[in-house]
Amino acid sequence: MELYKANILYSRSFDEMVVFNDSCIAVEDGKVEGIYESVPDKFKNVKVNDYSGKTIIPAFSDLHVHAPQYEQRGMGMDLLLEDWLNTYTFPEEAKYKDIDYAKAVYDRFSDDLVKNGTFHAVCFATIHREATEYLVKNLEERGIRSFVGKVNMDTSSPSFLCETISESLTETEAFIEHTACNRFSKPILMPRFTPVCSQRLLEGLGKLGRKYHVGLHTHLVESIWEEETARKLFPSFSCDTEVYEALGLMDNGPVIGAHFIFPSENDIRILKKHGGCAVHCPEATVNVIAGIMRVSYLHERGINLAIGTDVGAAPSVKVYRQIAEAVRLSKIKNFYEGEGSPSISFENAFYMATKGASSVFENTGSFDKGCDFDALVIDDLSDEQRRLTPQQNIERFCYCGDERDICAGFIRGKKNNLQG
Ligand SMILES: [Zn+2]
Repeated sequence: MELYKANILYSRSFDEMVVFNDSCIAVEDGKVEGIYESVPDKFKNVKVNDYSGKTIIPAFSDLHVHAPQYEQRGMGMDLLLEDWLNTYTFPEEAKYKDIDYAKAVYDRFSDDLVKNGTFHAVCFATIHREATEYLVKNLEERGIRSFVGKVNMDTSSPSFLCETISESLTETEAFIEHTACNRFSKPILMPRFTPVCSQRLLEGLGKLGRKYHVGLHTHLVESIWEEETARKLFPSFSCDTEVYEALGLMDNGPVIGAHFIFPSENDIRILKKHGGCAVHCPEATVNVIAGIMRVSYLHERGINLAIGTDVGAAPSVKVYRQIAEAVRLSKIKNFYEGEGSPSISFENAFYMATKGASSVFENTGSFDKGCDFDALVIDDLSDEQRRLTPQQNIERFCYCGDERDICAGFIRGKKNNLQG
C-alpha cells in the first residue's frame, strides 16, 4: 500500500472533470484503492508520499504515433500529405532496414515518450520486421502498454519501401507470433492506408486478424486525397472504412482509426458498430493534412475519441500540447463552419488524452477505484502573485509546460526513473 498526498484531477467522462483538493490517493498492488480527503484511520501507519501543492493526473495516451518518423520531426511542414510522404517520410522509413539505425532512433523515441508522460501508445513502425520487433521489446522493457504494428504496403509505393503480398503476410505473421505473448506491448495489424494496399493483401491480413485475434490500426479518411484514392482503388466499396470491414479486419480486437477527418455517414456507422476509436491528431492535421476533425459531432454520434501526436507530422511526442491544440483548432473550425461544429472545452480535450484511450487500454486514464495507477505529478506552475487552481495548473501545463514540470511518474504504481 502507498499513499500520495496532492491535488488530484482526472476525467470521469467527456464532459466531467473531477478535482480533489489537497487529498490522498491510496494505491494497492499498482491499482487505485480510493481517494480520501485525509488519511483514513485504516491507513494511519502507511507512509505518505507528500506532493502537497502539486497536482496528480493520469498519464497520457498517444493513440497514433510513428516511431520511425521521430528523426524527421519538424521538417517539410510546408508540404501536403502526398508530397510530404514522398519527399521525407518514405526515404526516412526505408532506413529501418538497417537495424543499428533503428535501434538508435527507437531508444531515443522510447525515452522521450516516457519522459513526456506517455505511458500508453499505439505505434506505427515500418515494413521491417526486425526493427519493429526491437521497438516492441523496448516498449515492453519500459512497461509501456502499447499496440505496435509492422506496416504493410504492397502497391503504389516507392520500390525501396514496398513488399510483395506473400512477403508482407509472412513477415506479419512471424511478427505476431514473436510478440503475441508479451505482457504490455502487443501486436496489431497496420496496413498503412488503402492507397498503398491491394485487396488481396488486405484479405490476407483479415485472415491473420481472425487467426490470432489481432485488431486494426490504420489511417482512416484522413485527407481528401486519401479518401478519393480509396474509392478509386476499391470501387465496389462505398467508403474507406467499409473496405476494412468487408475484408475482415474489424472483428478481431481493437479498431483504431487515425484522423477520421472526412468520414461519410457510412464511415461513422461502421466505426461505431465495431466499437472503434477515432484518433484526433491536431497539430499533424494542420501541418500536412489540412483538415480538422469534427470532434463534437463525432462525440454526439457515439464514436470513441482519443488523441495522438502523429509524430513526425507533429514536432514532438508531447501529448499535453495536443490537448491545447485540440481546443485551439475546434475554435477555428467553429469560427469558419458555425453551428455544425461546436468548439470543445479543455475538459473535453483532456478526457481524450487520458480516459478516452480506455476504449483501447482498459483500466487506464482515470483514478476510479481499480484503475492502474499510471500517474504524473505535475509541479505547481502558479506565479507568485496568483495561485492557480489544480485545473488552471494543468491547463497552463498543457499550453506552457514541458517534461521538466513532470516531477514524478508512476507506471502501475512503480516510480519511473526517467522523471523527477
Ligand atoms: Zn499517421
